[in-house]
Amino acid sequence: MIEIQGLRKSFGSNEVLKGIDASIQKGEVVAVIGPSGSGKSTFLRCLNRLEEPTGGTIRFKDRDVTAAQKELNGIRQKMGMVFQHFNLFPHMSVLDNLTITPRKVKGMGKEEAEKIAMELLRSVGLEDKRDARPDSLSGGQKQRIAIARALAMQPEVMLFDEPTSALDPEMVGEVLDVMKRLAQNGMTMIIVTHEMGFAREVADRLIFMDGGYIVEEGDPREVMAAPQHARTKEFLSKVL
Ligand code: ADP
Ligand code: MG
Repeated sequence: MIEIQGLRKSFGSNEVLKGIDASIQKGEVVAVIGPSGSGKSTFLRCLNRLEEPTGGTIRFKDRDVTAAQKELNGIRQKMGMVFQHFNLFPHMSVLDNLTITPRKVKGMGKEEAEKIAMELLRSVGLEDKRDARPDSLSGGQKQRIAIARALAMQPEVMLFDEPTSALDPEMVGEVLDVMKRLAQNGMTMIIVTHEMGFAREVADRLIFMDGGYIVEEGDPREVMAAPQHARTKEFLSKVL
């Protein structure tokens, strides 16, 4: 579904991605781990060109994301993104947060958008919050709403950038449960995370990034049990 070749990204003279090659299959769940500053967020953000790559190519379902101009918005709509800090629209109700983009960008009618939104709110257990403002919700609830909002655009891939890192510990589980169900329902997912238990249990593949490279990747259980590279070993010894 996504084919990444020789992906590079520099900020000024700081080369953050130094040639990333990766293929993501439809329905695959890929967890990305690595030290702070290793380029994980930049990698994710390059996939839908929230960051402009400085080299290499990204293909999404045989469309060239790196060269796309007019089709870029269409490609972005197929890639849902969830951030550490939720990024909900604070001045809107939960329901409006879920319906605004389908209505404005896809031209969906109010009734259909609200029907889809209510199904999604049900699926994340927050039906009763339809009229609430984001400010009145807990972090875990906000993040579940953010996931539902991304899903409201009916994406084919979901990109998660440390979706539980800003949460109080007691709220991490409810968000991971939603993500786990999404994975079980066949969603293609790329998840930057420090939740090693979740990565081991839910991900099909684990990618370890360091210094702008993919240093090691493989079956999460195998990589965690027997890392092949010194840097992977060192990182895992700190987080496991
Ligand atoms: P990670 O998500 O693995 O912690 P990032 O991708 O956020 O790493 O950052 C990798 C490097 O890129 C860091 O050195 C960071 O300072 C730099 N960087 C990220 N975004 C920008 C930006 N918009 N402008 C300049 N430097 C950036
Ligand atoms: Mg990051």
